[in-house]
Amino acid sequence: MSEAIREMSRTFSCPKCGGRPVWNPSDMRMKCPYCSAEFEVTMDRTPPTEYDIRTAPTAQALNWGEEKHMVRCQACGAQTILGEGESATFCAFCGSPHVLEDQSSAGIAPESVIPFQVPGDRAVSSFRSWLKGKLFAPGKAKKMAVLGQITGVYLPHWTYDSDTVSMYTGQEGHYYYVEVPVTVTRNGKTVREMRRERRTRWVPTRGTVAQHFNDILIAGSRRLPEKLLNKVRPYDLSGLCRYRAEFLSGFSAEKAGVDVNEGWDSAQQLIDGTMRDLARRDILRRADEARVTGLDSQHSNVTYKLTLLPMYLSSFTYKSKVYHVLVNGQSGKCGGESPISAVRVAILVIALALIAAGIYYMMSRSGGTVPDVTYMIP
Ligand SMILES: [Zn+2]
Ligand SMILES: [Zn+2]
Repeated sequence: MSEAIREMSRTFSCPKCGGRPVWNPSDMRMKCPYCSAEFEVTMDRTPPTEYDIRTAPTAQALNWGEEKHMVRCQACGAQTILGEGESATFCAFCGSPHVLEDQSSAGIAPESVIPFQVPGDRAVSSFRSWLKGKLFAPGKAKKMAVLGQITGVYLPHWTYDSDTVSMYTGQEGHYYYVEVPVTVTRNGKTVREMRRERRTRWVPTRGTVAQHFNDILIAGSRRLPEKLLNKVRPYDLSGLCRYRAEFLSGFSAEKAGVDVNEGWDSAQQLIDGTMRDLARRDILRRADEARVTGLDSQHSNVTYKLTLLPMYLSSFTYKSKVYHVLVNGQSGKCGGESPISAVRVAILVIALALIAAGIYYMMSRSGGTVPDVTYMIP
């Protein structure tokens, strides 16, 4: 990876007491937990280097800027990367206390990072108000969720750029009209008359569409499903900085479980979805309806980079199932999974039935007309 990262390959320490300072999201500076000294970290916003997909990550791309060690969760298999002297007492992904030191490498180092901007206490209050809004969650689950710890973890994401050209085959649908005889009843008499109806004539077609794609984001995590991650997106990628080990101090990072080529496979599926839409729109410029039956895409100038995005994770177990709650570490947006209480849903259904019965009763007393209601305007 870049010279800059290799140069910083040193352990950073507090200039006053020598302790290990941590990244403080509330003022975006480093803070020493021992002597409270604060100091700046340069946030380099020059666009990160993007690498050619045809060159495999090399050994020098494994430099994280400081010694890293890794732990693996015995329950869910999540691999968490920690800084020097940092340890984990439970797994951020499933809450299990069974985390053991893992000897494998931390893998390819990220090129860029969005540093945590939301402090931990704000993440907790965002999580609490989200939970309050969950009317159907069982009270017991809510209590357990509040007890569950919230951990800041940088999640690996791949981004891809591509110039894509797709050749497509399909069908053009052209409208034409025909007169068809129909039988209708007029003034009690059955008569036959002609009616104009629309038909579509399909003819085969082909064509080419082209598009440039910038920063297609693919999660490198296997622990958190895409559907869940989507609840707390988007990230503003203009906030990306060049990677520095300092931004990770006090937080952990997940090792990418999806490699660069697998990520590219997922990105190609997204690209093909967009190209299919473009092909359909291309056909519609010369037809009334469109069908795309085949698509063959060629990608050139494909580049990738590995990026770390900040996320607070909390999980709780209810009736032996693990539920995840996430808070976006850049925007503070909260989202997650929660169990549904059958009792609470039943109470709502009964309440609605009673209201409906009440309205029916009032309507039947007022002779079938809707009763007069006076609206109070506050
Ligand atoms: Zn200090
Ligand atoms: Zn786990």
